[in-house]
Amino acid sequence: MKKNSPQSLPDFQRVFPNEEACYAYLYAARFPNGFICPYCNWFGDAYHFQTRPDMLRCRRCKRDTRMTAGTIMQKSKIPLLTWFWGAFLVTSLTPGMSALQFQKMLGINRYETAFNMLHKLRTAMVRPERDAIGGKWPVEVDETFVGGATQGEGHGRHHKSLVGGIVEIRPRIKAPGPDPNLPFGQRPQHRGGHGRDVIAGRLRLHILPNRKQEALKPFILKNVQPGTEVRTDGWAGYDNLEKLGFRHKVVLIQGDHTKMDQHLPMIHIVFGNLDVWLLGTHHGVSPKHLQGYLNEFVFRFNRRFWPLVAFDSVLKIAARVKPPTYEQLYNGTWDHPG
Ligand SMILES: [Zn+2]
Repeated sequence: MKKNSPQSLPDFQRVFPNEEACYAYLYAARFPNGFICPYCNWFGDAYHFQTRPDMLRCRRCKRDTRMTAGTIMQKSKIPLLTWFWGAFLVTSLTPGMSALQFQKMLGINRYETAFNMLHKLRTAMVRPERDAIGGKWPVEVDETFVGGATQGEGHGRHHKSLVGGIVEIRPRIKAPGPDPNLPFGQRPQHRGGHGRDVIAGRLRLHILPNRKQEALKPFILKNVQPGTEVRTDGWAGYDNLEKLGFRHKVVLIQGDHTKMDQHLPMIHIVFGNLDVWLLGTHHGVSPKHLQGYLNEFVFRFNRRFWPLVAFDSVLKIAARVKPPTYEQLYNGTWDHPG
C-alpha cells in the first residue's frame, strides 16, 4: 500500500502532521516530473519559502506561482491540512458524510464553507479523462427518477430528476484485477456481490434531460466502448443502439417489476442503493447539486474494492482539476469536459 494513503487516524497524523507536509504532497502530485514555470517554462526544483508554503518561485525569472492555483483548493482560506482531513474523512467513511457532519468534525464555522468544500471534493471524484466502460463485459443501461420527496410539498414527480445509469456485468469467478484507474496496481481487498455468479463492475451515472433517443445517445456513446453488449428494456429510446455500433440485447419486461429485477438486476440494485444513500446519508438532495452527488456515489462504487486508495486518488485528481466557479457550483452546470 502506498505510504501516502493513510489507513487510520494515527497514520494520517504521521503522514500529514502539518501544513508543510500537505504542501509537500501537493507539490509531488502537481509536479510529478518537476516544477515547470508557467511564465518562462524553466524546468527544475522551484524555490520554496519557509513561511509561505503555498508559494513557489522560479529560479530563472523569479516570478511566483501558487501551488494551489488551478486546483480545487485555489483561493480557499481553509488551511490545506483541513482540506486533507476533509478528503480523508470523506473517503474513509463508507457511506460518506453530510455537510453538517463534515462541518462539525472539521470545526468549520460556517455551514456554507463546509458544503462548498464537500462539493469541490466531489468534483475531484471524476477523472477528467476517464475511459468508456464495457468492452468484453456486457453493460446494463436504464433510467430512474431520484429525489422529489421534499417536505411539505406533496408527492409527484415535480422535483424529481431523471438519472441514467450504466453498469458493467462481470463474472464473479474473476475478482476485479488491479484498478486501471490507479497507477499502483492495487488488488481488491474483498469481493462484493449478492450471491450471484456475476458482480457489478464499473458504474456511470448522469442526469438526463429526458428519456428520448437524443438524450440517451450521447450518454451511452460517451460512456460505453463500441461493440459492447448493451442490455436495456424495450423502451424506444434504445432502438438505435445497433446502428450506433453496439450489440443490443432487449430485455422485455412489460410492467412486471418482479421480472424487471431478474432481467436488469444489477442496475436496479445500484438505483436502490443510490436512493438509500441520497436519503439516508444526505437527507435528500436538490436537483441543482445532484450531479455532484452522483459523482461521489460513482466514485465510491467504483472504488469499493479499494477503499484505502480513494484518499490518494481524490487528492491526485484535486491537484489537477480546475475548480468549478461559484456560479457553476450553484447552477448545476459544472461537469467535466470530455
Ligand atoms: Zn520562470
